[in-house]
Amino acid sequence: MVYFDNNATTPLGASALHAYKTALEQDWHNPSSPYRASARIRAILDRARSDLAKSFGFKKEELTFTSGATESNNAVFAHFGKKLKPKSICLLSPFEHSSVLESAKNWFKDRIHYLPSDDSGVVVLDGVEKILNEEDISLVSLMAANNETGILQPWQDMAGLCSSKGIHFHCDATQWIGKLAFEDFSLCTSFSASAHKFSGPKGMGWLASKEPIQMQIGGGQEGNLRGGTENIPGIISMLSAWQEVKSNTAVLNDQVSWRDQFEMDLMKVMPGVKILGSKAQRLWNTSLFVAPDYDNLSWVGKLDKIGFSVSTGSACSTNKIGYSSIASSMGLSKTESSRLIRVSSYFEQTQADWSNLAIAFGHAWEELQSEASRSSVISI
Ligand code: PLP
Repeated sequence: MVYFDNNATTPLGASALHAYKTALEQDWHNPSSPYRASARIRAILDRARSDLAKSFGFKKEELTFTSGATESNNAVFAHFGKKLKPKSICLLSPFEHSSVLESAKNWFKDRIHYLPSDDSGVVVLDGVEKILNEEDISLVSLMAANNETGILQPWQDMAGLCSSKGIHFHCDATQWIGKLAFEDFSLCTSFSASAHKFSGPKGMGWLASKEPIQMQIGGGQEGNLRGGTENIPGIISMLSAWQEVKSNTAVLNDQVSWRDQFEMDLMKVMPGVKILGSKAQRLWNTSLFVAPDYDNLSWVGKLDKIGFSVSTGSACSTNKIGYSSIASSMGLSKTESSRLIRVSSYFEQTQADWSNLAIAFGHAWEELQSEASRSSVISI
């Protein structure tokens, strides 16, 4: 089976697995306990926090380990939802991940403004400064790279604008980290990340924030911000995955030509296919498109039988028919959105895998067409 759904999750890397196993066996003491064995674990924890924070331009006290980006994003909105004046507004892109969109709706209700975007799916910053000056905006959130299209957003410019006005800027960097070499997030006031998107373990991530954000009370761990005994094997494994990926991300970008060739091949075998975001700067690994016919689950099923795992869009929207923030913000009709397919690679997929994937789509289409014509004959 060739796996093309790495934006949903990546397999655990070899060094991350080794680090996890070793930590489960050897580093099991509670870091808060008073004896020497625990002091050693505390030192490991401290170093991991410091290494990670530093590599993204943050201080170690500013990084809180969490169960992943959903928790981190939720924490930001819960914090500001409770803290800000009742009239404060938050500004978001319309195609944020649901962990941002739903938290914003929960805490800010009708006090959400959406950033405008152009036809290619990129947020437009012209005029945003005026909005920041005139409206009571206290929190801005813009993702670094979109999980469905892979489109890169102008988060650095937005961060700069917010920083000049003293507005908290949060960046959901989940799909960027581990795929692109640029790692300086110091212009952001906070950013979130998730280990399982870069060959690390599931259920591990972080929130880095210059403003202390209280998540869980009781226990006093994580600088009193997130009580609960730390997941040391998860943290060590995440750090190990990050160190391995970090030294290899620069070469990944060259694989953009494999994805681009796949899209050209796809247009030949499936005339009428609509590739989303092809005019924008995108992650090198992602292709999201509207198939010319048949619902996406039929395609996924066919591809699965041929030997490829592909997705219908974001993993979170697979079972929510008609829901896809990117589909609505890019002006797709409901039927087009039911034909959305996403493919995403990472370290393991080769150039040959990409070209075989295009061929597989061609076969899947032939099969779907012949099944449809057979069933119409039967129904006559
Ligand atoms: N943000 C983005 C952009 C994502 O792609 C995802 C996962 O798909 C998340 C947040 C949630 O991450 P996690 O699975 O760590 O909660």
